[in-house]
Amino acid sequence: MSIRKRLTLWYSFLLGTLLLVFGIGLYTYISVKLYDNQDREMAVLASDLMVNGMEISSNPITGQVGLSLPNKVNFRYSGYAVQVVDPGDGSIIKSLLPQGQELPRSTESIKKAVEDSTAIQNQRIGQSNWRFLYVALRSESLFKGEPFGVMQIGVRIDSIVIVLSQVSRFLIMLSLVVIAAAASSGWYLSRKALRPIEQIIHTTGLIQSSDDLGRRIEYKGPPDEVGLLTETINGMLDRVEATYRDLEESDRMQRRFVSDASHELRTPLTTIRGNVEFLEKVWRQGKNPGGMSEEEKMELSLEAMADIAGEASRMSRLVNDLLALARADSGREMEMEEVEFRSLVEDVYRKAALLPKKAEWRLGDLSPLARALVTGNSDSLRQMLFIFIENAFKYTPEGYVVLEGLSAPGQVGVLIRDTGIGMDKDEVPHIFERFYRADESRGKTSGTGLGLSIAKWIIDQHRGSIEVTTRLGEGSVFKIWLPAKEAPSLPTGEVPALKEADSPAVEGLDSKGVDSKEE
Ligand code: ADP
Repeated sequence: MSIRKRLTLWYSFLLGTLLLVFGIGLYTYISVKLYDNQDREMAVLASDLMVNGMEISSNPITGQVGLSLPNKVNFRYSGYAVQVVDPGDGSIIKSLLPQGQELPRSTESIKKAVEDSTAIQNQRIGQSNWRFLYVALRSESLFKGEPFGVMQIGVRIDSIVIVLSQVSRFLIMLSLVVIAAAASSGWYLSRKALRPIEQIIHTTGLIQSSDDLGRRIEYKGPPDEVGLLTETINGMLDRVEATYRDLEESDRMQRRFVSDASHELRTPLTTIRGNVEFLEKVWRQGKNPGGMSEEEKMELSLEAMADIAGEASRMSRLVNDLLALARADSGREMEMEEVEFRSLVEDVYRKAALLPKKAEWRLGDLSPLARALVTGNSDSLRQMLFIFIENAFKYTPEGYVVLEGLSAPGQVGVLIRDTGIGMDKDEVPHIFERFYRADESRGKTSGTGLGLSIAKWIIDQHRGSIEVTTRLGEGSVFKIWLPAKEAPSLPTGEVPALKEADSPAVEGLDSKGVDSKEE
């Protein structure tokens, strides 16, 4: 059974029960009040008759009761029928009814009146309803207090019976109408209250069957429980959609990565295989393609071997990069320690001087890095800096590449500026993607397109950030920012371990460390 049906039934049942209790209570109250009034009037009549002028006598021979009742009561209490009956056989002792008429008597009520002094009884006579009051009559002087008669006062109560039946009919009708109204309004209200839930079921069903995660439940009602439920489900759908998109994206990237990686590996392999086949052909005994002289054969072979060596080292670089990214993807956490950043940067500067380059390699001001401590992995930080520097060298055919230190509250940074080929601004958002190589670089410079993805991963691991400024044909500036803190100051007199001027490996580095030229 649906919640809506159950709610309506419960609602109607509870209201019906309440109305029943209320109706019975009201009916009982009215009937008690009406009969009570009537009984009181009969009791007043009875005491009036007994007190005012009821004369009793007893026949000393037969012992029969003699009774006279005043006629005036007939006038005062018109509408009442009065007779006095013998408590033993119920025969009439005295009657105020017209000649030949008498009231029907109930032996049980007479007995009860004798025992309890009074008794009340309702009785239907023909078409009319009557109520009788039986009162035991006693006389201390004549009958030693024993009841000598029972006064029976009767009154027609048709009006009360009619009123009560009208009241009961009215209450039943009212209850039925109210229950029907309550049931239909309950049905309507529960439908209204449950409509958003039906909508939720409908929409979630649609999402389930159509895979459309973009759908949301529309709710325009107040922020009640249903509103909150809708909001929660919509929020959950947002998250599910975002996770699904992320998964789709990562799956797409993964597939692209695998296909790019195999493509990148296939190119050097094809070259190597081609060269090996060529060498085989050239040196196979008895065969001499094109009738080459020994010197020519030797020269071509050396070229082929140089090609093979070049491609092999390209492959090994590629495999190393792929390994680094695979490690990054496996979610392996780096081991972190406190690194003195300035000495690390200086060391990188010195080693980078040995890399092949056409541009001038300069060192800018490193003083902003003084006493900066970075929580990080020094090997990874070095690797990351080398990636940017190697790129700067690779993409700067003339001019210079400069390395500078930067600082900001809670951060230190390294700036690598080159006067190289630069990039189109549309390409900047993609350069950190795996295997992405800007148009200018493709085919002109060797590279895997993986370096910046590795560098980005290392920076992310250190909770750092990168800023890129570049202009095609004019050069690029990469700023790498890392969270840092200041090292505690050294005791007076102690010489800091690392100072620009103390760096012996950097020849020509002046004490300010600006624009120094490396041989
Ligand atoms: P690659 O092995 O091609 O250098 P990277 O991931 O290191 O791969 O760099 C991605 C691309 O970004 C490069 O192919 C190049 O087009 C561009 N790039 C990176 N650094 C520079 C730079 N200093 N100047 C110009 N272009 C750059």
